[in-house]
Amino acid sequence: MRPKLVVGNWKMNGSRAANASLLTGILEGLADAKAACAVCVPAPYLYQCQDLLQDSPVAWGAQDVSCHPVGAYTGEVCMSMLQDFGCRYVIVGHSERRAYHGETNELVAKKAKAALESGLTPIVCVGETLEQREAGQTMDVVNAQLDAVLELVGPDAVAKLVIAYEPVWAIGTGKTATPAMAQEVHAAVREKLRACNAEAAQTVLVLYGGSMKPDNAADLMAQPDIDGGLIGGAALKAADFLAIIRAAQ
Ligand code: PGA
Repeated sequence: MRPKLVVGNWKMNGSRAANASLLTGILEGLADAKAACAVCVPAPYLYQCQDLLQDSPVAWGAQDVSCHPVGAYTGEVCMSMLQDFGCRYVIVGHSERRAYHGETNELVAKKAKAALESGLTPIVCVGETLEQREAGQTMDVVNAQLDAVLELVGPDAVAKLVIAYEPVWAIGTGKTATPAMAQEVHAAVREKLRACNAEAAQTVLVLYGGSMKPDNAADLMAQPDIDGGLIGGAALKAADFLAIIRAAQ
């Protein structure tokens, strides 16, 4: 049995005051939680997370990172900065990065590799658009996204990845993949990982993301290959985030 992991992706939301009350609310309600959890926050708030969450069961991380180690990359944040603030995770290849910032499969793979080399766990996001799903291209798209990463990081690193399947059409739309639809892709993702490293594929966590909420979380996470969630909107309210964490058995 793989442990469950629930990760909040705050996206470009938050303020010092709102974060403090959200994080305090999460910490107060976590006592009986079985799943591991983390929050991925905007870079300016990493220090606040380190301050409030260190020595707590909640891990924290960033939503993106540069693939370069240091230097003249105006506006970018590098891996050693995330390490400085105690991050465990970094999301790479979120569909919003791919769509609005032109991130390619190759760039996402470089970011995943850089994270692994710095001892951070990359949460590698993959997923198809509605157009691609309707054209029957879901697995072609997801496989190409995974292939780029697996080829660059190599089989020995597979065990250190977290994958998040996030159908683009389900993100922030209130439309969720049904548990069966999600499971089908998750099983195929695991199959792909297995072809790269059979042993590691058994333990890699594959999270689902896309309008996961308290009322659908339990059914999604009851699927054999869904090991948790990457939560956007519902991660911004302590009660909703806690309910999802509790739904992970
Ligand atoms: P959502 O976002 O839960 O608001 O759909 C998920 C994500 O984009 O990671």
